[in-house]
This record gives sequence, C-alpha cells and structure tokens, in this order.
Amino acid sequence: MYEITVERVPRTGRIRPQLAKEKIEGCHICTFVTPSEPQVILGKDKAFTYDYVFDMETQQDAIYTHCTEKLIEGCFEGYNATVFAYGQLIGNKVQTGSGKTYTMGTGFDVSLGSEELGIIPRAVSHLFSGIEERRRAATEAGRPVPEFKINAQFLEMMQCLKLGALSRTTASTQMNVQSSRSHAIFTIHLCQVRVCAPDNEGSETDNRIANGSASEMNEFETLTAKFHFVDLAGSERLKRTGATGDRAKEGISINCGLVWSAEDDVHSGYDGNPALGDRSKRATHVPYRDSKLTRLLQDSLGGNSQTVMIACISPSDRDFMETLNTLKYANRAR
Ligand code: ADP
Ligand code: MG
Repeated sequence: MYEITVERVPRTGRIRPQLAKEKIEGCHICTFVTPSEPQVILGKDKAFTYDYVFDMETQQDAIYTHCTEKLIEGCFEGYNATVFAYGQLIGNKVQTGSGKTYTMGTGFDVSLGSEELGIIPRAVSHLFSGIEERRRAATEAGRPVPEFKINAQFLEMMQCLKLGALSRTTASTQMNVQSSRSHAIFTIHLCQVRVCAPDNEGSETDNRIANGSASEMNEFETLTAKFHFVDLAGSERLKRTGATGDRAKEGISINCGLVWSAEDDVHSGYDGNPALGDRSKRATHVPYRDSKLTRLLQDSLGGNSQTVMIACISPSDRDFMETLNTLKYANRAR
C-alpha cells in the first residue's frame, strides 16, 4: 500500500454556483461564507475554517490568482508544484458534480470564453508569458538570454472499463467512457538554463544543478521543475491520515491503493498492460497502478514542492452530507 503524505497544505474551498437544474428542482443553498473570513458555515451551525474560501460568485481568474499564480513563479525558481482538486465526498469517495473539472479546466475547452478558462490553460499562458518576459528582460539588460524547454504530459487514466461492459452487449452496459470516471493528470516539465543571479546564491533549491561552465565570466545554472494538475475522478478514494491532535504531523494523504480500488466495481484492469487485465481478479490490489500514480506524484509532494488542494463544494442542500464530508476532510482544527 502506497501512501503519500502532504503536510501543511493550504486548504482552499470553492463553492460553485447553483446549477439551473438545481434551482428548477427546488434545491436550497445550505452553504454560507462568513464575511471577510475564510470560513464556510454549512447548514445552521457547522463552521469550517480554511486558509481560503471562495464563495459562489468567485470568478475563474480570482481562483487562479490565489491558488496557482505563485506556484508558476516558483517553477521558474526550480520548485515543483501540484494543484489538486477534490470533492465532494461520500465517506472518502469522490463524487462528481462539485466543480473540479470546471475549476481545473482541461485545456481543451475551446468553447469557453476567456473569462471562464480554468487553472490549467491559465497556467500554461502564464508559463509562456513568464518565459517571454525573462527573455526580454535579459535582452534589454544585455545579459545572455535564458533558455527554456517545456514538456507536457496528459494522462487520462481510464478506469471505467468494467468487466460487465466488456462481456455483455445490452445497451445499458455498453462500454461508456465517461470523463468523470477517469483521472486527469496534466504535467508540465520546465527546464531552464540561465545565468546565475547573484541573489540566488546560497538558495536551497534542490533542483538546481550548477553547470560550472563559464562564458564571458558568466556562471550558468540549470533549473528544472514539474507541475502537476490533478482532477480526481468520480468514485476515487481519499484518505486522511496523521496523528490526531498533533497538528505538525497532520497530513492529507492520497492513498493510492485505495484510490484505485473502487470496491463496488469489478474492473477489467485494463490500462494497456495485458498482464494487468486479469478478469478473474477483483482489482483490489494492483501494484503497478498504485506505483504509477504514486511515482507520478511522489517527487511533487515532498519538501521541494508546493501543493494546493482545492475542495470543490456544491451549495445545494441535496448534497449536504457530501459537502459535510468534504469540509471535514480538509478542515483545519482551530
Ligand atoms: P466535477 O468535475 O466535480 O464532477 P464539474 O466541474 O463537471 O464537476 O461541474 C459540474 C457542473 O457545474 C458543470 O456543468 C459545470 O459547468 C458547473 N460548474 C462547476 N463550477 C462552476 C462555476 N464555478 N461556475 C459555473 N458553473 C460551474
Ligand atoms: Mg470532473
């Protein structure tokens, strides 16, 4: 069983607006944000205090500015980062419909107006404008122009192919790949070669490799950073760990073993590797998958890394219990 523990993660909550359907069906709003405090009150009296809370009317640019902008700046200094959307929860199981995908954006939302773009496409443009700025500033100052390389990776880890869907042909069990049943993890690798800035000396950035090469008296350094954007799929599991009462040790962990073992489903286990497609086995423990996700996120959840978790919340009373679980999961005891 793999566990990644993230300590002292800033807890952010975002309440989406009510959908037209919820209004038509008579759902009431059961979330209230305390004015000028990062506190959500659920129902009459269940209060939860986070680091940041964004109420229903919050626009996408405000979410980006508060949750991600600084992290992209950090990437230029060699810090890894992860932005992670989750919610809403039944037990510790992630449900759909609370605004995770809307918040993260997919980068493929061509139909959306620019003000509606989510975190991912904004981060990508921020990265490119950051590169342009740095190159221009160096040119203007007569310094060697820094070089950048960007690689991107997009995983859609399908886990929705059920044994039943493969073996039966009735309409109701037709293979149906829903985006809500797959992980979306978008990863950007940034590599930068630049002249060492004098004020960077003595910094403890782990990812910096001094090249030791000098040209025209300049020392160059190579910085690399990885940025993960994680949009959790429906029916995945989150687990909270940590010694209760000991805040320093309190952590939020992504328990990958559990993440991948939707207990009520029998998975085909298909992920491109036939050895893992053993249909006779319930997919309660598939080490390959466990380690894949774990390895992917591991180095981005350690010390040289900044992580933001965004709890996505529905305002409607119909989702009260799911919202309560979500708020509890990330609640910081005060
Ligand atoms: P999830 O990814 O958690 O399943 P979605 O992001 O798909 O949820 O959101 C569910 C629905 O709510 C979608 O129709 C989406 O467009 C809408 N929605 C979510 N957040 C917002 C928001 N902040 N403003 C407007 N519509 C939103
Ligand atoms: Mg989604």
